[in-house]
Amino acid sequence: MRRIVNARVVTPAGIRLGGAVFDERGIIAVEDAPSDRLAPRPEGAETIDAEGAWLVPGGIDPHVHFGGFGDIPIADDFWTGSCGALAGGTTTVMDFCEPARGEDARAVIARRMADASCSAVDYAFHFVLSEQYEDLLADLSCIEDEAGIRDYKLFTVYDNTTLGLDDVRSIFSRLAGDLRRTFLIHAEDAELVACLQDELGDSVDMQYLARTRPDTAEFREVEALHDLVAETGARVCIAHSTCAETVALLDGPLPCGEFLLETCPHYLAFTEDALAGDRGARSTMVPPLRTIADQAALWEAILSGKLSILSTDHCPYHARYKDDATYRTVPCGVDGVQWRMIYAYSEGVVKRGLSMERFVDLTSAAAARFYGMWPRKGCIAPGSDADLVLIDPVGTTTLGMGVSASAIDYSIYEGMELSGRIARVFKGGREVYDGTAVHAEPGSGSFLRR
Ligand SMILES: [Zn+2]
Repeated sequence: MRRIVNARVVTPAGIRLGGAVFDERGIIAVEDAPSDRLAPRPEGAETIDAEGAWLVPGGIDPHVHFGGFGDIPIADDFWTGSCGALAGGTTTVMDFCEPARGEDARAVIARRMADASCSAVDYAFHFVLSEQYEDLLADLSCIEDEAGIRDYKLFTVYDNTTLGLDDVRSIFSRLAGDLRRTFLIHAEDAELVACLQDELGDSVDMQYLARTRPDTAEFREVEALHDLVAETGARVCIAHSTCAETVALLDGPLPCGEFLLETCPHYLAFTEDALAGDRGARSTMVPPLRTIADQAALWEAILSGKLSILSTDHCPYHARYKDDATYRTVPCGVDGVQWRMIYAYSEGVVKRGLSMERFVDLTSAAAARFYGMWPRKGCIAPGSDADLVLIDPVGTTTLGMGVSASAIDYSIYEGMELSGRIARVFKGGREVYDGTAVHAEPGSGSFLRR
């Protein structure tokens, strides 16, 4: 049993000066008094003096890619990715079961469960409904009842997974009736992107990535999806939202359903200028980086509480696969899982006045609620899992390879200096990060059945 004292605890009922008592089964009590006024605890309870640090729920990153798809290997698998996650205060992730062409649901689920068996963080999956979705919909019981997966990922671009709006409407209208089901959607107008790519041809200049995947391509598709939510009542989160026009949709009326936006730290931290020059390929992801004005709109939506979820879309590739590619062959994706929590703390809370309650929403609670994990996850309350993070507000963190705990060989965030420091991380009541090193065994994470 452990007892954290003298922390500023962020609970659903507000911020308390006190701490928490927990063991491997979960949080036993939340205390709201300074240590000298607390009743003594049983012998053997280890006391940890937080010295005024913030105590927040373990982070939930609901959009990561730890291995799993494409010909070019993603730098992190579930083991190295989860070590990065733990060092950054994230104790739960959501990854993907994406069927290869012709692969049936049971096979892809078994394959991804095997991939994840070395995970040191808890995990859940989004199931990708590909172009063969009719076959999958014919037998959902193996996805939902057998495997306990109720989240679906849809893409409106990409080979093998492109769904038109009619397909999406059909899927929503058949599945939206069960409110436990959620949809995460990659939204870009595939026709517009293809047309711009044909027009501009291929190039080693990565600024073409931004030109051929403009904000309009995202916004048009997201707007159409917003209409489909209103029509069908589906519960939808738009993956990696990037631009001001998309954010503006949050102000539109929504008679039924749920419509959330997710964004990622890289869209808040960098602009399309990073795509220029020799190293531009190292800043490629899809949708691409946008403008300062788009960043401002994303931050405003975060600060006002309208934009709910901060994920990373962590999908790093080693630099050798990025350099020398063209904008059409480059493997798109960057790192982030280790930096998300401290980035949100430094740039949100310290720099922009984001409240700690909103910080918790953004980094864990909103995802926990949307994906059916709350209050087990994303919540400091008796009975919740003892996934806990101490954030030292006085320390600082320099991001990059010097502190990376995962397998990446470069970071888009290299050298970024942030306020605050992830001081200690507990998962399932056990200390998994002590401020310097990760202490976790492969396979110590559990699959979260929902
Ligand atoms: Zn992704």
